[in-house]
Amino acid sequence: MKRVAIIGAGASGLVAAYFAAKNGNGVTVFEKNEKCGKKIYITGKGRCNLTHVCDEQEFLQNVVTNAKFLTSAIYSFPPESTMKFFEDGGLKLKTERGSRVFPVSDKASDVTKCLENYCKSAGVTFKFSERVLNLDVLQGTMRGITTQNGSYLFDAVIVCTGGMSYPSTGSTGDGYSFAISAGHSIIPLKQGLCGLEVKGEYCAEMQGLSLKNVRLDVFFREKPLKSFFGEMLFTHYGVSGPMILSASSIINRIDLDGVRLSIDLKPALTREQLDKRVLRDFNEFSNKSISNVLKELLPSAIISEVLKRSGISPEKQVNSITREERSRLLTTIKKFDIIVSALRGFDEAVITCGGVDVKQINPSTMESKLVKGLYFCGEVLDLDAFTGGFNLQIAFSTGYLAGNSV
Ligand SMILES: Cc1cc2nc3c(=O)[nH]c(=O)nc-3n(C[C@H](O)[C@H](O)[C@H](O)COP(=O)(O)OP(=O)(O)OC[C@H]3O[C@@H](n4cnc5c(N)ncnc54)[C@H](O)[C@@H]3O)c2cc1C
Repeated sequence: MKRVAIIGAGASGLVAAYFAAKNGNGVTVFEKNEKCGKKIYITGKGRCNLTHVCDEQEFLQNVVTNAKFLTSAIYSFPPESTMKFFEDGGLKLKTERGSRVFPVSDKASDVTKCLENYCKSAGVTFKFSERVLNLDVLQGTMRGITTQNGSYLFDAVIVCTGGMSYPSTGSTGDGYSFAISAGHSIIPLKQGLCGLEVKGEYCAEMQGLSLKNVRLDVFFREKPLKSFFGEMLFTHYGVSGPMILSASSIINRIDLDGVRLSIDLKPALTREQLDKRVLRDFNEFSNKSISNVLKELLPSAIISEVLKRSGISPEKQVNSITREERSRLLTTIKKFDIIVSALRGFDEAVITCGGVDVKQINPSTMESKLVKGLYFCGEVLDLDAFTGGFNLQIAFSTGYLAGNSV
């Protein structure tokens, strides 16, 4: 039996603790908060999108950083195993639009309760309100940890401290200092799955407008990077919503000056089909102003900006719109460009990109290649994925490997 310390009672820590204890080890979880899973509590708007129904291949396609490193973890504990694990633990699950999995109760706290019950049934000891301060490493081997209350001896330590987004939940980046003290390199940290600030005043004017079924193309120095289809939202600072959050994880490590987002407001129509549709509306309402007629085609809140960009006066009657003006209008609708100025801060970012360099971690065990008996799992590692339940699944799969490997 080994003495195992888990630092952090979040998603990865609770799974690691359970599997380490189930294998007969003496496991103690140190959590600086007064209870488990403060971050789980706010996931999926309080409902917790805990995984994504898909096979391993599709899963890895949704991982933005270090998908190859994750292969072993995801094949060892795929979404299917996660669902079975929770259902066996008494948590009923449902799959919603976009293959996203939630508890039937719609309560994220039930996910934490289920994990905590698993841990207790396996004999895990919890030490709440006890912050770990240091790792104690001797000659390349884990010896123990020091907390605010004193020092403890352990044969293995699993660092599950999360990233540094939403720091009020307890994820304040402590794991990065632990890693550095053990000789590990940290890939620079960046906000991921966050809103984007935008140049110009128009977003604030359209604040609250949600666009559905639109296409977003992301360019860097005019080279296409990735396309998304779905929803986005205009806010007081710029843009947000599912597609934008995903785009942020693509552009957060490159020079934002070279980034251009282009929205196709009518992706279901080719330019020719859109032209026909516009002409039909123009013929039907020939004496009305363009801003009124466009209400047939676009949400009201975006019309003034579309006309401004097309160089057409909002009062102009449609029967006097020239062919060139119509052409500019079509271009604006198909390519509504957004120039990004900044990422929103860590306090609003859903995840932290960057972290412990996975080159120094064994992908089959999550053990450090530098210090024997030291493991890392979850968001503290340089791993991140799109929205849809992928990030919690990464925490569960890496926690499973670490817990089973000690
Ligand atoms: C608003 C929001 C919504 C999200 N929604 C989803 C979603 O629906 N689906 C999804 O897949 N992902 C979602 N995520 C991402 C997901 O929550 C994280 O990726 C996941 O929780 C990471 O798990 P973790 O175990 O690595 O870290 P965390 O869950 O952050 O846990 C880390 C724990 O370590 C503790 N800790 C830190 N330092 C110390 C220390 N020194 N001593 C003791 N304890 C310490 C912290 O208090 C914390 O409890 C969301 C994130 C946010 C912010």
